[in-house]
Amino acid sequence: MLRRTLVPLVLLAWSATAAVPTPKSYFGHELTDDGTVLDWDRVVGYFHALQKSSDRIRVEELGKSTEGRPFIAATIADPETLKHLDRYIAIQQKLADPRKTPQAEAEKLFLEGKAVVLVTCSIHATEIAATHTAVEFAYRILTDDTPHHRAILKDDIVLLVPSLNPDGVDIVTRWYRKTLGTPFEGTSPPELYHHYVGHDNNRDWYIFSQVETRLTISALHNVWHPEIVYDVHQQGANASRLFVPPWLDPAEPNIDPILMQEMNMYGTAIAADLTAAGKTGIAIHAIYDFWTPSRHYQAFHGGLRILTEAASVRIASPITLTPDQIATTALGYNPRERSWNYPEPWTGGTWRLKDIVDYETIAWDSLLYNAALHREELLRNFYRVGQRQVDRDKPWGFVISASQRDPGATRKLIETLRFGMVEVGRGADGSAVIPMHQPYGGWAKTLLEVQHYPNDLLYPGGPPKQPYDVTANTLPMLMGVETRAVDQPVPFSGEWKAASRVAGPTLPAADTDTWFTVNGAWKAGRAVWRDPATGDFSLGARAGWTEHKQPRIGLYQPWQANMDEGWTRWLLENFGFAYTGLRNADIQRGGLRQRFDAIIFADQTASNMQNGFNRDAMPEEYVGGLGTAGAAALKEFANAGGSLVFLNGASEYAIARLGVAARAVTPAREQSEVYYCPGSLLNMRVDTHSPLAYGVPAEIAGWIEHSPAWETQLPVVARYPESGVLASGWLVGEKVIAGRAAVVDAPLGAGHAVLFGMRPQYRAQSYLTFKMFFNALVR
Ligand SMILES: [Zn+2]
Repeated sequence: MLRRTLVPLVLLAWSATAAVPTPKSYFGHELTDDGTVLDWDRVVGYFHALQKSSDRIRVEELGKSTEGRPFIAATIADPETLKHLDRYIAIQQKLADPRKTPQAEAEKLFLEGKAVVLVTCSIHATEIAATHTAVEFAYRILTDDTPHHRAILKDDIVLLVPSLNPDGVDIVTRWYRKTLGTPFEGTSPPELYHHYVGHDNNRDWYIFSQVETRLTISALHNVWHPEIVYDVHQQGANASRLFVPPWLDPAEPNIDPILMQEMNMYGTAIAADLTAAGKTGIAIHAIYDFWTPSRHYQAFHGGLRILTEAASVRIASPITLTPDQIATTALGYNPRERSWNYPEPWTGGTWRLKDIVDYETIAWDSLLYNAALHREELLRNFYRVGQRQVDRDKPWGFVISASQRDPGATRKLIETLRFGMVEVGRGADGSAVIPMHQPYGGWAKTLLEVQHYPNDLLYPGGPPKQPYDVTANTLPMLMGVETRAVDQPVPFSGEWKAASRVAGPTLPAADTDTWFTVNGAWKAGRAVWRDPATGDFSLGARAGWTEHKQPRIGLYQPWQANMDEGWTRWLLENFGFAYTGLRNADIQRGGLRQRFDAIIFADQTASNMQNGFNRDAMPEEYVGGLGTAGAAALKEFANAGGSLVFLNGASEYAIARLGVAARAVTPAREQSEVYYCPGSLLNMRVDTHSPLAYGVPAEIAGWIEHSPAWETQLPVVARYPESGVLASGWLVGEKVIAGRAAVVDAPLGAGHAVLFGMRPQYRAQSYLTFKMFFNALVR
């Protein structure tokens, strides 16, 4: 600010911005004061106030969040640029598709265009500092005339999303204020900070199941084709102060090497600028790999992804670390030692919200300034990456045949590809044809092919090096859609249309479409009839068939916010099942059979179910688990004919607390050198005579993520083969689970306990095994 007084002319030129409200005047406190948090409506209001007082910013509501809050984006650039946004969008769209834009025209556009940078904040709502940084950055760039800011305004178009999760801002703010000054100040709320998916909201970026994901993709990525997407996060508190790329291996093989090099370059530029500004504790090439496409949409769409992960505080409460509280190990570096990728360790002290915002502000300025400096090369490389996609020769493409067991899942798969801008043609026989020579052919390939995750051990014979996320994303396997890669051209014309599927072969009854039909009937208060031999459904009564009304479903909702419970809710709601959420006390009260036919337990540990939060962790009303009374009530429910459905880790509860006779053959997670499956598709054989197998083929791939497998004499619904277990991703220790049970249907009293040693409703993706899950609810 001082420098303005030294340059009166500049002061004059910027006096038009005098009315821009400071964050302090608007929010009523210094933005980063300890113990203060922001309300979403105030953040939105601030951005609107900025728009009213400056011609360098435009604010747009893209739509509503899951809970109905405004979902906004700001566009920041020179006033001249903002007057011609349509022109800059057109340039981006031309450069994005080299088939339509010859090199000579592109050369002119490299000179005319702007570097488009999308900055997305606080998708994880407890990582609040990025929204603060958005406020701070917007204020500064509109008011603080520095050479860097001038360059950014002139050569960049900044698309700023102050929160990718507006509902979460208020969920965390509410909880923080409620617990401020109590022993629980700074804890995470005992509910998901996104209504359905909590922290998994940044694992949604190829299935696009949530409204916030869809708004961001459809209104920003797919319109603007940003050259850079910068996603601003926070990490644990006791190692580096800030991570910035380069990434760790492995990198997903379809990511263009140009983008990898640019991510290295911009990342290290940020690290250099932070270090030069006196900020210690900057780590590069650490912790975070670049494998799963669930976080990296833009890296498959011509742009680079920059991530920063700042050390967290306790929401807005400072922390103090002594040197001996700093971690001794981290993936890729030692937080206590100087190394090439961690050259100036942070040695402890007090760390507060303001520190995070200071670090992030420097990082934002650095990235945006470097984008401005390298504007022309960024655009040139963006175009070049598109050319390399279009020139791809192996495979020629993929074909999804018209004859599919599950037309509903097939349609969903094709619509998902198209939402990601993949062009899908129609073959002469009604098949869907996806040639690779298109700008996003690599994206389609990533989602359609088998993943071969490297066998990445810490040392030979040692434990596996933990991937940052899961290792497989083969949608045809997840959805049960037959897809084949072809090396020879397949003729196609026009666009594939869902209508062309109607003329297909007779559908097996228990497919996805039929589940929709069945649930539609239930919603309208009607019954359906089911053939007890085949599982086929009918909307009219038939001799010998069983009448089914909508099952009465209970869903256990622990106080320990559970993402898998959220995904389960999403699934039930999207497939038309009604359900009732059940807290510990609701179950302990008993009398469950009068109210429910089936009760679901999402993936969680048996000990969490039994014990819940302890007294040190949460206020009294959230303490405790199902306990002895809960287990007794669940036994009584099963004895009276109810079905208990346990997903993945929750299955252990059925064995430990309800006496289901199965023995886990999978070791504890600590023995990862013996057995390890961090999120992969594994082959299994299904007993098609089981009532849980209606609509499911005899051979499937199930989603296995630290899942148990069992030895048991009980009825087995799905079992691993003796060899060839891995279908896609990574598996260590195949022999541990070969031939063992993956899904068990245990009689329990007059009812059942179904143990899924998998996640049958995995992240809104596993359409094939959704059916086994639904079958477990309707019997
Ligand atoms: Zn995060």
